[in-house]
Amino acid sequence: MDIAILGAGAMGSLFGGLLAEAGHRVTLVDIDDAHLGAIRSEGLRVTTDAGSRVIGDLCVCRPDEAETAPELLIVFTKTQHTDAALASAQALLGSRTAVLSLQNGLGNVERIARYVPRERVMVGMTTWPADKSAPAQVSSHGAGEIRLMSADGDMHEHVRRAAEALNSAGLNCIADPHVWSAIWQKVAFNAALNSLCALTQCTVGELSNVPDGEALTLKIVAEVAAVARASGIAFDEAHVVDTVRHALAHHRAHRPSMLQDVLAGRQTEIEAINGAVVAAARAAGVAVPCTECLLQLVRLVDARGSH
Ligand code: NAD
Repeated sequence: MDIAILGAGAMGSLFGGLLAEAGHRVTLVDIDDAHLGAIRSEGLRVTTDAGSRVIGDLCVCRPDEAETAPELLIVFTKTQHTDAALASAQALLGSRTAVLSLQNGLGNVERIARYVPRERVMVGMTTWPADKSAPAQVSSHGAGEIRLMSADGDMHEHVRRAAEALNSAGLNCIADPHVWSAIWQKVAFNAALNSLCALTQCTVGELSNVPDGEALTLKIVAEVAAVARASGIAFDEAHVVDTVRHALAHHRAHRPSMLQDVLAGRQTEIEAINGAVVAAARAAGVAVPCTECLLQLVRLVDARGSH
């Protein structure tokens, strides 16, 4: 399959590398010249539980250099960069190109549907983790999964083809009619842990140093659950609470991406996570005081980074 990845950082490079390794023709499209240059000259080093290897069979380019439209375009920029990335990569959007977002947060369909008809947009979530330690070097440990579906809910041929390609790369993908439950449940997890860590600069484990930390995470999960249900989404709150408690106990040293962004002076994805929950809460008439307060505080942190 001809596949392009728009936003080839930690996740995009991992997915692109594994898809190329499985025999697909993959182009990594990014604006990070150091990363692109290192892949061009040395290949992409991918380290997973299966070992560390260099994948040389990858095309790389900047968005404005892309010339041919792939069958599948996977968007893996941070959510606040989706618009700019798609606007500058028009050549990637052919009349048959299907576009998949596995980015975190809400609003990904709406952002992509400004550029591609909605029936060719696919959305989902993934629990695969990825880190980029240096240009052309990515790693991922442990197991993960992908759930995806077309934005219009129909089981199009391109949904089946995308899932098949991702499975061929060992990425454990299912086409899931209940994908919005999975997306909202991950949003709840991220709204609780990412924003609290970004604000307090605590690692995940440090959130349980005082009882208030865990209590606050669970309050946010309950708020997001209430918004999801009021918006017609089935939400398994007990499952999310278990996942949050597991992270607090077992991923103690983890710094969520939002904290990493704050520490590096980059903008966070707060608008797509807490911001989108607060907007949906207003529309549904649900009060979300903790989620909203965290949104306002992380906005202040973000603004400090950009001034
Ligand atoms: P990242 O910052 O490592 O990668 C994003 C890439 O997008 C960067 O290489 C950046 O240069 C590129 N980019 C920015 N603007 C661009 C533009 N205009 N055109 C082309 N490329 C551009 O981020 P990541 O960790 O890979 O996360 C990507 C998405 O996946 C986010 O929504 C994140 O929340 C989600 N996610 C991440 C993980 C993880 O473990 N890293 C897990 C699940 C989901």
